[in-house]
Amino acid sequence: MTRFMCVQCGTQFAETSAPPSSCLICEDERQYVRWSGQEWMTVEDLKATHRNVFTDEGSLTGIGVVPDFAIGQRALAIPAGDGAILWDCVSLVTQEAVERIRRMGGLKAMAISHPHFYAAQAEWSEAFGGVPVYLHGDDRPWVMNPHEAIRFWAGETLEVAPGFTLIRTGGHFEGSTVLHHAAGADGRDDLFVGDTLSVLQDRRHVSFMRSYPNLIPLNRAAVERIDAALAPFPFERIFGTSAQRSILQGGKAAVARSVERYLAAIRD
Ligand SMILES: [Zn+2]
Ligand SMILES: [Zn+2]
Repeated sequence: MTRFMCVQCGTQFAETSAPPSSCLICEDERQYVRWSGQEWMTVEDLKATHRNVFTDEGSLTGIGVVPDFAIGQRALAIPAGDGAILWDCVSLVTQEAVERIRRMGGLKAMAISHPHFYAAQAEWSEAFGGVPVYLHGDDRPWVMNPHEAIRFWAGETLEVAPGFTLIRTGGHFEGSTVLHHAAGADGRDDLFVGDTLSVLQDRRHVSFMRSYPNLIPLNRAAVERIDAALAPFPFERIFGTSAQRSILQGGKAAVARSVERYLAAIRD
């Protein structure tokens, strides 16, 4: 029995003796099945050909996979007192990654923005003794590898550790979530967004899409809902899907500016 992994989106599936017949996440209109067709690989295949790569982002540690794999997911280990919170996830967890995070005190919890970053969440949790993985319950149908470590949460906000609050914004997925960290490492509040909000190349704007690869926008109601969900929270920095996709100052104003620009663009 093997946990097969979809090569296109990097999602690990529950153990089976043969590869699954299809990938629900790639067949959804927010992703795509590649031109050459559905492909699968095993964890062992991935370990033999890829490794984790780390980026220092101030007090945060970014964790990726090289050479490029799946949709280029990146996880962030965020210091949280005597351990770290892992935000989002990647498809590979190596001994090197485990040792690196152990030096931060180990993982206290994991939280994931939406199904495109579920990746190898079960393996990551197991590598740290089964730490809880917080997923919004509205995205439960997209969990391809159900696991006892997964904690489905309901409602609009959840504090997962002191100062760390998950905020369900919806939009990209019904359960799409961002993570707010009050008084981040250097005294400024941080927002971690995955691609629930996508930080753009100028690093002064974000955007909001139902599908990024298929260019399906969100409607006004969805963007206003995201705006309203974030309204109570101050934040200075916004951390997106890579070190190059972060807004390091003026994050709150950047979101306000971006919501205004987006709504103007889709106005009749
Ligand atoms: Zn897939
Ligand atoms: Zn996504």
